[in-house]
Amino acid sequence: MKESYLGVQVSPLTYEGIVTEIKSRMTQGQQSTIIAVNPEKVMTAQKNPEVKDLINSSTFQIADGVGILLASKLKKGNIKSRVTGVDMMARLLKFAAEDNHPIYLYGAKKEVVELAATNIQRDNPGIEIAGMTDGYEQDEQALIDRIHSSGAAIIFVALGSPKQELWIQRNISKLPNVFVFQGVGGSFDVFSGTVKRAPALFRKTGTEWLYRLLSNPTRLKRQLNLPRFLLSILFNRRN
Ligand code: UDP
Repeated sequence: MKESYLGVQVSPLTYEGIVTEIKSRMTQGQQSTIIAVNPEKVMTAQKNPEVKDLINSSTFQIADGVGILLASKLKKGNIKSRVTGVDMMARLLKFAAEDNHPIYLYGAKKEVVELAATNIQRDNPGIEIAGMTDGYEQDEQALIDRIHSSGAAIIFVALGSPKQELWIQRNISKLPNVFVFQGVGGSFDVFSGTVKRAPALFRKTGTEWLYRLLSNPTRLKRQLNLPRFLLSILFNRRN
């Protein structure tokens, strides 16, 4: 059962649950989309019905970030652990290698996506990288043709939000042989080693937001969405 926060749906499934469901959807010829949900996106969705619709029409809305977990706790929901975009991608890469599903990497700067591909190939023996394109490609139709003829079954789209989600929405029906579309934001930067993940202490305690804030204080404005989101949840509960 999906949970709803200020009208935005979130899936309570774990990494394994999502992969299991994706497998069964694939055998039925159904395409799946994965979108990461965090307080910032929920707050954007309040002002922009298109963003809300984009999130709610995805197959899996993963709880990326501690904010959704806190909200689930406040509302006595069932979302107990985070499903981060980058770890979801790592799990899907393992699935792709094991079940022989070619992947496509689309997004980020040219040198970033190339380095990410090299590391992904090294860490997932046997994986087939059907193709890759940097995120500054202009000719969308040429790109769609390239992805289609590559034989990819899973695509990771790293253009940032909501650009990547809008791209997926526009093109999913033109790519009938691609079964999984994940919008992964800055994940290629992480896989390439260009951007370091937060140290383990911050990751374990769910305080990556604090690490990012300390290393980049200009994020404060974006991060104010977390308290604003929690206050709205509390306010909604009282009413
Ligand atoms: N990016 C891109 N094309 C664009 C704009 C951005 O490929 O037109 C890439 C950018 O290089 C970076 C990623 O998209 O790798 C954005 O990462 P960010 O962390 O900003 O995304 P978020 O997860 O915050 O939405």
